[in-house]
This record gives sequence, C-alpha cells and structure tokens, in this order.
Amino acid sequence: MGKLRILREFAMVRWLRPMRTRASIDRRQRRLLAAHVRFLRRRSPYFGELLKTRSFADLPLMDKSIMMSRFDEINTVGVARDDALALAIANERAREFSTDLGPNSVGLSSGTSGHRGLFIVSDAERDAWVGTVLARTLPRRMLLGHRIALFLRADNTLYESVASKAVSFRYFDVYADMDENIARLREYRPTILVAPPSVLRVIARAADSGRFDAFPQKVYSVAEVLELSDEQRIRKSLAQTRIHQLYQCTEGFLAHTCEHGVIHLNEDGVLVEREELDGERFTPIVTDLRRRAQPIVRYRLGDVLRERREPCPCGSALTAIERIEGREGDTLVFRRLDGRSIPVFADVITRALIHAEGFDEYRVTQTGESRLEIALDTVDDRSRRRVTDEVDALADRLHCERPELVFVDYVSDGAVKLRRVVQEWGDRRW
Ligand SMILES: [Zn+2]
Repeated sequence: MGKLRILREFAMVRWLRPMRTRASIDRRQRRLLAAHVRFLRRRSPYFGELLKTRSFADLPLMDKSIMMSRFDEINTVGVARDDALALAIANERAREFSTDLGPNSVGLSSGTSGHRGLFIVSDAERDAWVGTVLARTLPRRMLLGHRIALFLRADNTLYESVASKAVSFRYFDVYADMDENIARLREYRPTILVAPPSVLRVIARAADSGRFDAFPQKVYSVAEVLELSDEQRIRKSLAQTRIHQLYQCTEGFLAHTCEHGVIHLNEDGVLVEREELDGERFTPIVTDLRRRAQPIVRYRLGDVLRERREPCPCGSALTAIERIEGREGDTLVFRRLDGRSIPVFADVITRALIHAEGFDEYRVTQTGESRLEIALDTVDDRSRRRVTDEVDALADRLHCERPELVFVDYVSDGAVKLRRVVQEWGDRRW
C-alpha cells in the first residue's frame, strides 16, 4: 500500500523522530549502519566480498564509474545493468515513465560530468522517499490542499503515485516550450514550486514582464547549484522571503532547508563522511543507510559544501550547511605572485561577480593557466570593465596575478545543467 507507507514515513520524519540532539542522531546512525552492513554482507555480491576482509570504514570509496561498471554485483535485486539501461533510455526517449522493472523503478541521472548514471529504487524506497520529501517541504501551518509544480528533466512515476486530495502534483517537462509551461503554471496556481535555478530564472523573467503572477507560497531550487545572484533575483521577482533548496541527486536526498532557510543534512537517513578541502569546505562521502535495491555506500560526491559555524535557530541538531558551492571539479586555479597555485572555489568567483553590473546571464570558464573566458549576455564596454574590475580586485585580494580575460557571447543551453563556473583547463593541480 503505497499511500500508507508514504504517510507513515511522513509522520515519522515530521513528528515522531525529533532530531534535537547530536547524541540521538549518532545513536540512530549507528543502529541503521549495523543493520545495513549485515544486509550488504548477505545480499550484495560486491559488498559481501569486500566485507569479508574489511570493516565498513575501510571500504573503498565509490563513484559513478564504479557504480556503472559493477552495477550487476552491487544491486541486490538481481537487475542487469544493460536491461535497466535499455528500459531507462526507452522511457526517457518517449518521455513516458510508466514502465518499470517489476517492483523496481529505473531512471537515468543527467549529471554534469558527461556520462550518465543509472538508478534503481524499489517501490518501498520510493514511498519512503516521497514521504520524507513531503515531510521536509510542506509548510508548517497549512498541511493540506497543496498544489506542487515540479520542473524536472526526467520523471520515473514518482509523483503520480501520491496524488490525492491532500496534495496534488503537476509535472512540467523542462524540454517543453517554456512559454507553454508558464501558461500552464499560471493556470495551475501552485502553492509550492520546485525547479532548477535555470528554470526559476526563466519564470522570474516572466514575472518581471508581467506574464506570470501566480506566486507560490514556497519556492524550491533543485538539481543545480543556486548561485547567490540567482537567488536574489528569483526571490525578488517571485515575491519570496527566501528560496528553499532540496539537495537531491541520484545518490539520494541529502539535504533540505528548514523554515529558516538554512540547509541541513538529512543525517537521520544518510551518513555523511567528510573529505576536508580547506578547513571550512568539504566534499561529502555519502552512505544511504536505508537504500537497499541499489546500495549507495561511501559514495564520493564531487560537490563542495561549507559548514555553518553557528547553530541554526530552528533547533535541529542535523548538521547545518552555510552553502552548497558547486562541483569540486569546477574549482578554478589562480597563480600566486610567489608562483604557487591556489584554488578559487566556484562560490568565491560568483560572489565577486555579484557586484558587477550590465549583464544578466554569465558563465566563467577557465581555459588555461591564468586565463578565463567570460561569457556575458551583454558584452559591451561597461560590462567588460565591471567584470574586469571585480576579477582584478579578487586576484589582488588573493595575492595572485590578474588572469587574462577573454569575453564571448553567452549562449544558453537548456538541456545542460546550469553551471556558472566551469573548469576546462587540463592541468589544474593545487
Ligand atoms: Zn534550521
């Protein structure tokens, strides 16, 4: 019974499992981890073999290429990669997502790294996921009667399954014509809008020009990094006090914003180890303590997270994150005056460009040592000068040489995830 499972999970997350102390989170994680390791030993050929000779903490880190090459031995439901891939691609091509592999759903993840990922979830996991997401997103005061608009690249029957009187969902295809999408959205009048920042920007522009006025109660950014400048713009145009975030990827539902707009890790179901980058930033290594069809164990994500120093006023003991800053692979490298190379995280550069004016869309790509390509939707003397000033000021502040800037026209590509900072220079050690 899908709905019952969803409701149970919703109630657990929302009311019955308060995560008020660090000790209670740690206790829960230890218990879930012990049970999960027992399960992996018995049911996953890949992990079963590894766990014969080592403990959980010594398991090798996983990434997308291991997940794809050892898919058949990793998953615990006997699904072959090629069958799952063929089905997922057929679903995607038809933009029709109702065909499943028995009690399991399959899907493709877009990802920014080029090769596609494949995911598989059981019905029970899917219901638990929906229950958790709803518990984390539905507003405090009004629980019923929500209309949730979802802009997604791919769907896999996740949402229709929960439509009811309490909550209705409408799915908007990001590949469809955006004017039509906005007209449909206007007629639907969502109370909650969930979309990648690139789509939220299009809706914000429509609102600015008077073509969209059905402002939702809550706006969620998903699937792409929400840059500060985009956040400000969307917030203003859609009349929000804050833009919420769901940090959700193929590897799991990893974090959510609380009512104060602070991002918290979902440590009640996910164990997050840290690979420290520079003292305040880290790359998460993720173990989903409850996903069994396709175990996600010590999976290294290429994202950069910055921990928040002060506790969140909401009172949750779930780790608070200041910002999700983008992909580690998109960290730029500047050369210091003393010859050393230093990392310039994506967030640092986008923060510097907040002060530049004269353009709306931009992308910064490092194409060589001390060379940046700056794509702007308005390339003129003013925008060029303002960007140059800000990048120079940043370089000076970091005691680095000022990079050479090459200005080009901004070309938007709706099919590609929005990345404002891109690292394309081959030799980027720091
Ligand atoms: Zn909070």
